[in-house]
Amino acid sequence: LKSLLADRDLLVSRAFVGGAWIEADDGARFEVRNPATGAVLASVPDLGRAETARAIEAARGAQVAWAARPAKERAQVLRRWYELMMAAQEDLAVILTAEMGKPLAEARGEIAYGAAFIEWFAEEARRIYGETIPGHMADKRLMVIRQPVGVAAAITPWNFPNAMITRKAAPALAAGCAMVIKPAEDTPLSALAMAVLAERAGLPAGLLSVVTSMRAAEVGREFCENPVVRKLSFTGSTEVGRILLRQAADQVKKCSMELGGNAPFIVFDDADLEAAVQGAIACKFRNNGQTCVCANRLYVQAGVYDAFAEKLAAAVARLRVGDGLEAGTDLGPLISHDALDKVEAHVADARAQGARVLSGGRRHARGGMFYEPTVIAGATQAMLFAHEETFGPVAPLFRFETVDEVIALANDTIFGLASYFYARDLSRVYKVAEALEYGIVGVNTGIISTEVAPFGGVKQSGLGREGGRQGIEDYLETKYICLSV
Ligand code: ADP
Repeated sequence: LKSLLADRDLLVSRAFVGGAWIEADDGARFEVRNPATGAVLASVPDLGRAETARAIEAARGAQVAWAARPAKERAQVLRRWYELMMAAQEDLAVILTAEMGKPLAEARGEIAYGAAFIEWFAEEARRIYGETIPGHMADKRLMVIRQPVGVAAAITPWNFPNAMITRKAAPALAAGCAMVIKPAEDTPLSALAMAVLAERAGLPAGLLSVVTSMRAAEVGREFCENPVVRKLSFTGSTEVGRILLRQAADQVKKCSMELGGNAPFIVFDDADLEAAVQGAIACKFRNNGQTCVCANRLYVQAGVYDAFAEKLAAAVARLRVGDGLEAGTDLGPLISHDALDKVEAHVADARAQGARVLSGGRRHARGGMFYEPTVIAGATQAMLFAHEETFGPVAPLFRFETVDEVIALANDTIFGLASYFYARDLSRVYKVAEALEYGIVGVNTGIISTEVAPFGGVKQSGLGREGGRQGIEDYLETKYICLSV
């Protein structure tokens, strides 16, 4: 991997704690593998609670001085971090693809997307406005100021090794918080490379730590039980989110949670079908179906069902599966054998219940953790993918008749992150957009993510928002000052 990088110092095999590059106290390490080949890329320290506690202590030490700096100075440091990240885009993309598997073009896109959060929140740092309120008595003057919550901790997933970190770290640092990050054990190298650049950008020592660890539960406990941590931000499964919320309850810690989704993608009979097919490909197969906003259930109205199914199956059959570092790859491998097993289980369950496979439906001939991009017709609400996130390259097509029917089906889930639909009738567009119980609705588009808009879910998909003007709110407290004159 090192030989592929222009800046070899970006490939790091130590953790970053309190401004120092460290080993685990007991010397333990774990290996990072390329999911496309199984090759070992590097090893990194396996830190536990003690090292995590030291990262938190260092964060406390650095945070107060950082918060006291004028917002413009914080913004300048963040701006430099953004520029260094864009200057290193190619190297960061190569590291990301190597450890995570997504095609290099998508990895480049993720670096630009991830860096954009730093740029955006550097700009927002200077707009943390308070307010004044007309007094309730003649001698009272009332003010509201916004202050950083203090030390924040983050636990992030492997599917966006860069952007899931910047969406948390950038608003936290912009607001004047310090942050300790535990990246996913599958993808620590991207996180460490970002820390190298943060250090070069002049971020004060201790303000940002990267705790690499296989002992996620231990690190999570320290985050929840250490009183210095005032805020926990998590992106990952709803299961783990519930555990962390329970643990955080003892100290009533603020929590932001970006959890699972089960996105419906609805095609109405007045849709532009070509556009809907393109949108479905972008939304379902990006990152090999491994995003929490990927379409999980495709509902197609009866009048266009067969035509849509045929066009989608034809388009999917043209997608190229391969190593993300090879030119021309559209879909990489799945992240793990567990992920592969889940995809197989969903397809087998659908087959057993009478669904028809229109395209794919098997492990890919390349072997390893590769699976064929798959389109399945005749899906029903009794099948596994109606209720669980598949997190893989499988597009199940459900047939529906009426608007009210599909709204009820789409909302029949504990999740509420992203949703999508294609329609042209204006009153239908409004009605459906308002009726979907989701934090995000894409209308006539399959791509909704941007740093300028609030991303987040309702129901069991989470708490809080990332990106947009709202994204910094999660790292601020409101203080009301009542002054008697
Ligand atoms: P995924 O299915 O994306 O792997 P997880 O929720 O298992 O989702 O993982 C997301 C992140 O949560 C990873 O960084 C992982 O190490 C971490 N994690 C997993 N289990 C726990 C736990 N019990 N406590 C804290 N963090 C955890």
